[in-house]
Amino acid sequence: MNNASLLDEAQQYLVGGVNSPIRALTPFFTKKARGAYLWDVEGKEYIDYCLGYGPLILGHAHPDIMAAVKEQLKRGTLYGTSTETEIMFAKEIVKVVPNVEMIRCVNTGTEATMGALRLARGVTNREKVVVFSGAYHGAHECVLAKAKKGSVAPSSKGIPAALVSNTIPVKFNDTEAVAAALSSNDVAAIILEPVMGNLGCIPPKKGFLEEVRKICNETGTLLIFDEVITGFRLAMGGAQEHYNVDADIVTFGKIAGGGLPIGIIGSQAGIMEHFTPVGKVYNAGTFNGNPLSMAAGLAALHVLKRDKVHRRMHRSFDELMNGIRCLLPEDAVLQSVKGMFQIYFGVDGVCDHTEAANVDKERYMRFWKGMLKEGIFMPPSNYESNFVSYYHDSSTIQNTLDAISKVIK
Ligand SMILES: *Cc1c(COP(=O)(O)O)cnc(C)c1O
Repeated sequence: MNNASLLDEAQQYLVGGVNSPIRALTPFFTKKARGAYLWDVEGKEYIDYCLGYGPLILGHAHPDIMAAVKEQLKRGTLYGTSTETEIMFAKEIVKVVPNVEMIRCVNTGTEATMGALRLARGVTNREKVVVFSGAYHGAHECVLAKAKKGSVAPSSKGIPAALVSNTIPVKFNDTEAVAAALSSNDVAAIILEPVMGNLGCIPPKKGFLEEVRKICNETGTLLIFDEVITGFRLAMGGAQEHYNVDADIVTFGKIAGGGLPIGIIGSQAGIMEHFTPVGKVYNAGTFNGNPLSMAAGLAALHVLKRDKVHRRMHRSFDELMNGIRCLLPEDAVLQSVKGMFQIYFGVDGVCDHTEAANVDKERYMRFWKGMLKEGIFMPPSNYESNFVSYYHDSSTIQNTLDAISKVIK
């Protein structure tokens, strides 16, 4: 089996050869993975910084997660009833996440942000929502919107303009834009990635999240942190803990499922109980809280705590960041926050989508190809973030730095 023949076949049966578009940019098919490493069907080994686009903070095939999933498999995979594991999982989340008293488990980050926005609209009886240009909250209608000539337009074909007409895109890290968008006191929620991870890695400016929190309080707007990437990565309590700013509603995904599909909506009981069956905001799903994701997620949370994963991972992360900084050419910049990073060429820094548009993407792709040849798998787009796992140890990091010094120009 080789990559070229699989690609030929994949393109016959799967649109573009893939089931999710970004994967079309990666020229290999994976056979297996373990820890910080992936192996393709031709046996080539890669150090993985893509890590499933974020979930795999414990690396691939962590033994505790595999054991938990195997144990659950023996007892069945779906019941259509509640299970004790769901309660244990919810309790654990509530224990470690600030400001969350109850959760609803769904199956993807997309469903989580869709549910969170519906919840916010149901709670406030308002229809408008504010998003940040260039942010990603999944693949559903009202967040696939972009600013266009002072108004808003769908960012995908197939979405009626009416479905984004209540979405207001504003510039990230711009508190004046936020204040203006919320000033009419008729916005249900503002949803944001505390660290923008779908334009590479853009941290919030100092004081930005605090200011947004303040404006939300003044205008009766609910603040939604989309922590699908940052949750359980920046800290056990995610960006809320790391930046010490409370959101009204939080969404999780990725890491929380221990490598299996998941999405989570969390908030105070008074807000959460607007969801069905207690309240009138509809949410449901055949696979919601499914036993395999619950078992894997619960095992992941245990390991994160027991092994003090963040402390160790952040230490190797700093080692990598310091190493990269020494190797960067003068016209490149490294942006990072606790376990996520990206390199931009041809700019001094990137604070929002307009600055992201100015980066030298072709140079990034040349760098990416060079790294891939050296056996380092980074995300195949400058607008995705690199991630580091618990299994990226000093020798893995040294090998990565050696490759970077060879490839970067
Ligand atoms: C990945 C991602 C999502 C969507 O999650 P899926 O599980 O892919 O649907 C939502 N928000 C953010 C910030 C993400 O990075």
